[in-house]
Amino acid sequence: MNILVTGAAGFIGSAYVRMLLAGLLPGAEHPRVTALDLLTYAGNTDNLPLADPRLTFVRGDVCDLPLLLRLLPGHDAVVHFAAESHVDRSIEGAADFVRTNVQGTQTLLEACLRTGTGPVVHISTDEVYGSIAEGAWTEDAPLAPNSPYAASKAGGDLIARSYWRTHGLDVRITRCSNNYGPYQHLEKLIPRFTTRLLAGRTVPLYGTGANVREWLHVEDHCRAVHLVLTKGTAGSVYHVGGGDDLTNAELTDRLLGLTGAPASLVRHVADRKGHDLRYALDDTRIREELGYAPAVPLDEGLAATVAWYRDHPSRWQDREHP
Ligand code: NAD
Repeated sequence: MNILVTGAAGFIGSAYVRMLLAGLLPGAEHPRVTALDLLTYAGNTDNLPLADPRLTFVRGDVCDLPLLLRLLPGHDAVVHFAAESHVDRSIEGAADFVRTNVQGTQTLLEACLRTGTGPVVHISTDEVYGSIAEGAWTEDAPLAPNSPYAASKAGGDLIARSYWRTHGLDVRITRCSNNYGPYQHLEKLIPRFTTRLLAGRTVPLYGTGANVREWLHVEDHCRAVHLVLTKGTAGSVYHVGGGDDLTNAELTDRLLGLTGAPASLVRHVADRKGHDLRYALDDTRIREELGYAPAVPLDEGLAATVAWYRDHPSRWQDREHP
């Protein structure tokens, strides 16, 4: 099976490629991967097993239609992770988010349509629904994104739906909760707090720390994405939830415990603009229809993640430390 993976040098895309080539994702016999990535500030080829002969890395842009039309023939499937992914950056400036997350998704789907390539799994986020005070969203909940990041992802989701509904392109959408694990960019909460605490530095906690997020290990997300690719249905949306809700304050307490850092290193800072209070996904569909269940308990996954950053100081010590 020849799979083109976009955003393959990022956090989740690279985990997917590593797992695929390590034989950890059943249902893709003799996988070969084309890893397409623009290598923005967020992409890092050190995340990929570049020496593996089954992997071809291509530096390129998902907005580049001629490139995609050249690359896609011969592929059996596409998994689309490429995105601008950091909410704080989207508040500073949203143009790159609209370009990659909306226009890039449209360009990729257009190229898939013209070359007859599919299925395409479009990777999206729980953030497209906005914020929910109680209960959990099902896949038919209205999209009400609040940040420019979330709005650009929702735009990509709607374009994906339209290519399925109008053209019959086989597109499936996943919407996942917050991921954690090794190889994540240092700007994101868990690697940022972990590496700062390991270095004895303060960590900035937004507002009161009451915002609730559902945390899922990146390998569970990749298993879910692969189930959707191998067993999902064209045009369907699948939630991928972690089931482990924590406030940011509770998560910070766990990281303090795992790094052995004192609580005095936590600084409360002004809240993020428009900060969503709570996200929660009902993931009954993927569990019942595709047999998905997360395998990594949060306690174990968090401990392993902190240990990974502790054991890989070259990933963070000499780098710009946000
Ligand atoms: P990331 O920022 O770590 O990686 C994104 C990758 O996309 C980078 O390697 C970057 O170089 C590449 N890229 C950016 N613009 C590109 C372009 N125009 N053309 C080609 N490549 C480009 O992000 P991530 O955390 O791995 O997220 C991957 C996907 O999963 C995104 O679509 C994101 O919205 C979604 N998602 C992430 C989370 C999470 O918690 N990280 C949760 C739910 C959904």
